Amino acid sequence: MTEHLSPITQERLTALRRLFHQHAETGMAEFWTTARIAEELEALGLSPIVGEKVSRQEARMGMPDDTTLRAAEERALREGAPHSRIERMEGVTGLVVNIRPDLPVHTVLRFDIDALNVQESDAPEHRPVREGFASLHEGICHACGHDGHIAIGLGLAHELMRRRSRLTHNVRLLFQPGEEGCRGARAMVAAGWLEGARHFLAAHIGMWAEKNHALVCGARGFLATTKFDVEFSGRAAHAGAEPQKGANSLLAAASAVLNMHALPRHGEGDSRITVGTLTAGSGRNVIADHAFMTCETRGATTAVNDYMFEHCRSILEHTAAMYEQHCRIRLMGGSDSAGSDDSMIRVVREAARTVPWFHEELIRDSAPGYGSDDACVPMAAVQKQGGDAAYLMLGSRLAAGHHSPNFDFDEKTLLPSVELLTKIVLMLDVI
Ligand SMILES: [Zn+2]
Ligand SMILES: [Zn+2]
Repeated sequence: MTEHLSPITQERLTALRRLFHQHAETGMAEFWTTARIAEELEALGLSPIVGEKVSRQEARMGMPDDTTLRAAEERALREGAPHSRIERMEGVTGLVVNIRPDLPVHTVLRFDIDALNVQESDAPEHRPVREGFASLHEGICHACGHDGHIAIGLGLAHELMRRRSRLTHNVRLLFQPGEEGCRGARAMVAAGWLEGARHFLAAHIGMWAEKNHALVCGARGFLATTKFDVEFSGRAAHAGAEPQKGANSLLAAASAVLNMHALPRHGEGDSRITVGTLTAGSGRNVIADHAFMTCETRGATTAVNDYMFEHCRSILEHTAAMYEQHCRIRLMGGSDSAGSDDSMIRVVREAARTVPWFHEELIRDSAPGYGSDDACVPMAAVQKQGGDAAYLMLGSRLAAGHHSPNFDFDEKTLLPSVELLTKIVLMLDVI
């Protein structure tokens, strides 16, 4: 029956994108979003997998606290997500869907679904405002284009269902929570969704393909990263009368920050260390008994990043000992480094030639990665088991840079992106 579906249209993709844009939700709390994606997939005759099975609990990173999660669930219910659907999610966002569950899996694609803690612009010239689909949620908006990714993923599911009987392998789509901060992918990989896969694809609107009709077939050189929070707990004391009785968390943190930033660098590639925030102490005349830092390391390779993180850990633990602190390090996110394979870049280029939207002179084989993306975790996993992978950048004119309040992309890129991914999947099906 599904083979008689009519082709997905630009209007439908635009409507979907706008719907998800309005209901922007941050990482690991995408309840409304997941429920709606599931509903759309079921309408196509698919059986999306939701709940605990979607990701391995121990590998989930940077989970919001329970109060935040419950509030997000309640907001989803208020905004019309059916109770039964939210219940089936068991507090876990994201979902997995198999186009041909009766066949062995061959190709896996990742679509990230989270928004950011960014207050969307209310300027009248910002299109979501002008055309009435701005985020309904204070301080949260889709400022990276993942609303478009969801629409493209649903469009691809639609197009694959039209060709379902022609597929000789299963195609699996991962609608992944928590890409921002690299939190969600590792837990989906740990749950086994990439096992046996020979090809993996992820795609992002914009990035280094900032023009309509442009395409980067396979980005390379994403940085591996580790995101971590650090808490020092010391001892408060009177700063004038008996400071010797205190254990100063502020001094410990300040010393650790400088030493982490002074780490000797690795000879095998670029590295980064950033302590993005530091808060400490409770009053002018009190020896600080508490300090909190949010930090990240990055590396050109997973090994370089591991070197940076492990040395930061060592500095933190030794500084804690020096200043009589209790030190707690919490992993909040992380990704491997990875790059696209030539074999896959060739397939993408060949497929792009058959989609007139993409202009030959604007198609590039490769470009540098755009910071870090946890799609690198499944990429590296598939490459390790002998398969190949690519990270595409789908060209679109951008109103402003990624993660800025005025970010917007040109929706005209949605339909050709679906067409391109459909062609690639069909080509990979027989490789
Ligand atoms: Zn982003
Ligand atoms: Zn993004």
